[in-house]
Amino acid sequence: MTEEQHSALAARTLSLEEPRWRQFRAAFAHRCPLGTESFAQRVRVLTELWQTFSPHASPLEKISPESDCPVCDATVQPIAARRKHNQAPLIYGACRGCGLGVLLQGGIAGTIYQQASYYQHRDAGNAGYERYLAERAYREAKGRRLLQWMVNHAQRKLTTLLEIGSGFGFTRAAAEQLGMVTAGVDVNPFAARMAAAIYGQMTFTGTLADASAATAIEPHHWDAMLYLFVLEHLPTPQEELFLAAQMLAPGGVLALVVPNMQALEREIFGASYRSFRHDHLWLFSVPSLQLLLERAGLTLIAAASECNIRLLSGFLTEQELNQLELDCRAADLLVLAERKSS
Ligand SMILES: [Zn+2]
Repeated sequence: MTEEQHSALAARTLSLEEPRWRQFRAAFAHRCPLGTESFAQRVRVLTELWQTFSPHASPLEKISPESDCPVCDATVQPIAARRKHNQAPLIYGACRGCGLGVLLQGGIAGTIYQQASYYQHRDAGNAGYERYLAERAYREAKGRRLLQWMVNHAQRKLTTLLEIGSGFGFTRAAAEQLGMVTAGVDVNPFAARMAAAIYGQMTFTGTLADASAATAIEPHHWDAMLYLFVLEHLPTPQEELFLAAQMLAPGGVLALVVPNMQALEREIFGASYRSFRHDHLWLFSVPSLQLLLERAGLTLIAAASECNIRLLSGFLTEQELNQLELDCRAADLLVLAERKSS
């Protein structure tokens, strides 16, 4: 990727005009050339400087609500307010106990996920996909890497996969290429039709709870389950994970890919963080996921993080960025959990 391409993609990821991103980079380079300052110093400068550049940050009013964490009962403190066109800002809080991110104000109702338009354009709040079908090869390749990671960490051979929120079936297709038998569940009928048209896949249209009630999905059966950027959209993630655990075979594994509340990008970009969107009810941390999984009868066996685009490239070294991924501080958090055998 050229520097120009990276710059355009970074600006798009941050919902920013590209000239503004270039100005930010120049301002940083002026104050803090790479190689002249420590990691901590560069992070401090980035954080301070971004506050003067962010087009998204809105003042956090004193009246912003505090609440109790639904995962650990500690206090959720408002930490970021993101401007919303002609509406009250989005307000996100962070749990002081488990680190869960909570959308406290400004969220949208979940019916958008059932509409064909969800896969055709992004709305003003960045929900939905702009180029979902055009990114087929990229999404299949990403699915292959994710599945390989699951296979590498699982104690048992993975021959069956149930994906919740399977969309057009890109990751299922990757699993099928690895020899797995797959099933998919998705609330969007258009996505289900597309999965049938592209790959000949059958998809149950509805939620996992609907599929379970209709006995459309066999319980206690699946070697592997996957939620790829799904859990952050669900009002009751704990209930979902309880149900998911019932679908797994003893010793089966569940993979979750979710927006990371512990990402360094979140600390630097604040209200501009890429995952602060009006359809993200939650952002997760490793401790919050561990609690949710444990209660569902699942044991965390691996955690990792990655970025589809490294927004901090050019500010931090490749080595520092690699270390952030290893430390679970990149933007996308991946965890794998195992169903206890008894
Ligand atoms: Zn908590």
